[in-house]
Amino acid sequence: MIQDAFVMTRANNRIINVSNRLPVSIRDGQLVKSSGGLVSALEGVQRTGGGDFDLQWIGWPGGAAEDTDDKDRLTQQLKDEFGYHPVFLSDEEIEAFYHGLSNSSLWPLLHYNPTYFNYQHNWWQTYEKINACFADAVDDAAQEGDLVWVHDYHLMLLPKMLRERRPDLRIGFFLHTPFPSYEVFRCHPKRQELLEGLLGADLIGFHTFGYLRHFRSAVLRLTGRESDIYTIRHDETETHIGVFPIGINWTGFEQALGSDDFQATRERFVNDFKDKRIVLSVERLDYTKGIPKKLEAIEKYLESNPDRRDNVVFILIAVPSREDVGEYAQLKENIELAVSRINGQYATISNIPVHFINRGVKFDELCALYAMADVAMVTPLIDGMNLVAKEYIACQENHGGVLILSEFAGAAQELFNAVMVNPYDVDGMAWAVGEALDMDDALKRRQMEPMRRLVVEKDSKWWAKRFIQSLVSATDQPPRDAVKRLDGQTLMKFAPSAKKKALFLDYDGTLRGFTVDPAKATPEPALLAALSALELRTDLDVFIVSGRKGEFLRQHLGRFNFTLIGEHGYAYKRRGGDAFELLNPDADLDWMPTVREVFDLYAASTPGTHVEQKRSAVVWHYRAADPEFGQWKAVELIGHLKEAIANVPAAIAHGKKIVEVSSQQINKGMAVERFIHETKYDAVLCIGDDQTDETMFRHRSHGAVTIKVGPGTTDAEFRLSGPEQVHHMLATIAGMKELASSV
Ligand code: UDP
Repeated sequence: MIQDAFVMTRANNRIINVSNRLPVSIRDGQLVKSSGGLVSALEGVQRTGGGDFDLQWIGWPGGAAEDTDDKDRLTQQLKDEFGYHPVFLSDEEIEAFYHGLSNSSLWPLLHYNPTYFNYQHNWWQTYEKINACFADAVDDAAQEGDLVWVHDYHLMLLPKMLRERRPDLRIGFFLHTPFPSYEVFRCHPKRQELLEGLLGADLIGFHTFGYLRHFRSAVLRLTGRESDIYTIRHDETETHIGVFPIGINWTGFEQALGSDDFQATRERFVNDFKDKRIVLSVERLDYTKGIPKKLEAIEKYLESNPDRRDNVVFILIAVPSREDVGEYAQLKENIELAVSRINGQYATISNIPVHFINRGVKFDELCALYAMADVAMVTPLIDGMNLVAKEYIACQENHGGVLILSEFAGAAQELFNAVMVNPYDVDGMAWAVGEALDMDDALKRRQMEPMRRLVVEKDSKWWAKRFIQSLVSATDQPPRDAVKRLDGQTLMKFAPSAKKKALFLDYDGTLRGFTVDPAKATPEPALLAALSALELRTDLDVFIVSGRKGEFLRQHLGRFNFTLIGEHGYAYKRRGGDAFELLNPDADLDWMPTVREVFDLYAASTPGTHVEQKRSAVVWHYRAADPEFGQWKAVELIGHLKEAIANVPAAIAHGKKIVEVSSQQINKGMAVERFIHETKYDAVLCIGDDQTDETMFRHRSHGAVTIKVGPGTTDAEFRLSGPEQVHHMLATIAGMKELASSV
């Protein structure tokens, strides 16, 4: 799907990148551009992409709006110098939107930590408000058809808000954190709103397949939308989903590794740590990074290896983070206590085992540490990706180091040769330290070399290019089934005249919405009113063509002067008639007992499902089952049935929360055919919502107006979104007398 040459199709070549923070800071009223991974990724695409496209960036410039006395001047400067558009936040907004909802509510849940989860309704209100401010800013900056790339959990409502304001935009969203299991995500009081917000995007990207899988599961369970591995289906559109593991800013590292500063720093460090083995850790001081457990493992290692206490040094760089949040301050205190305990216990005259550095280091120092460390210990309890693991590997030019990596980091999906650890297993991590320090040199090289090739090749530019190209492809494809909206002109065929017209109307999903208990899906007042109005029209013959048994149709719709066709055409009762007759009395139904047996087996092993026996069909209903289990068993059942009923005149259909096996010698299309032949109609309309209705839609040769209700591929010419629209259409047809006389 991804072409090599990077080509932006459609009219223009503009990308609007939207992230919570702009890559600038304001120091003493002056702008300083920062060089984050995202900046280099996007600028890389801009340079190597072959397209000289225009990159705009929308975000918060940092600091409180109150501190910026000259907002207009700053806005102009950001725009002129960098193509950036600021969204200013007040002190209260920073507190509620950023520290509150984003970092104290979403961050803990996205990282499987409901114990750190906090929520206040005013945080949510501010989150909505700020997302709307971002939507306004994009709306102002965007030209027709622009490509908009939204980043991360601070802006989960933005895709939907943008879609509503600007349907012309192509909207991508990338989540830089994990997406947790549904069981954790469901804890959030606004879980539904958050998902709906995201689903406004054309493409949603995740670091790993696991996160994508969890997202699909949450979408199915919380919004009812089914999906496949690449797409989530909405009524008339789709959201594409995909896996795009982020890479490092290799250009930055490559330059640093070739610099004199790096060489000098490295020599200095090598000299400082002569005769020592270095185990390096680099991370933000965050509870997701698993620092206390790592310290327990270090303690364990030193306890079990007294002979190493003189020559192993653990360098822990913990970059301060979110220090205003209470949990982080407490964590820092615990870490400091553990470090001093370990050093008190295991320091020798010639060695202090743990070097704890609670601040960021300069870039050339970081590169030097990465390059010289014998082992990197990257052991987060959970991490969207973890760039440190990849950066360490990239700096191992001589392939002599070993990476110990938590299996809970997204990076573990790619760095297949690392020494994998469970970060909750302290003994296992202590063992891994020994294993890594004692690894044979040849083995180290064999392990490191292919991983290094991967992180260097698949860097942040590669990542950005892939995402953008996928967004372009997703939005340039015509919808899989481009079905027209029903228009008044078409309906005019059903305006009164001497001519005869027929309406073939499916019931469930078309005239009536679904209910968990099918017996409760009886006609509602709006439908009864529309049908009563239709009945008054003498130029219209109405046929209800349903999968239901005849008795159900008689009981609920028998009062109307319509022809009732039940069981997908098996039995019908003519208007004014009394008894049901068979459409094809010679149909072969010998396959039915075998199918019934298989269905009973599945009903017994799948809670919430049941079997419905019809005369020409057997149906397994799974609407009340666990949605994922039901869908999974349905696919399995279909596989099973394909073997069981090969070579018999029966067809398997996977409908809406049902699997049905029905006679191939009877279907709705055949029933339509029969009645169209009997009476010469001048206009025919067929409407239905599922696979069994497709047999009716194939009768376009009769000039029928065919209408599919709801999403999904179809042979019908038109589409309506649901029963409500159908009622409206029927009422329009019924009341066309005035309309017709005025045309
Ligand atoms: N880093 C930094 N200053 C330091 C140490 C590290 O800027 O003193 C960078 C490091 O190079 C890496 C980033 O911080 O790019 C950490 O990214 P990671 O994905 O590992 O974790 P995150 O902080 O995003 O959770």
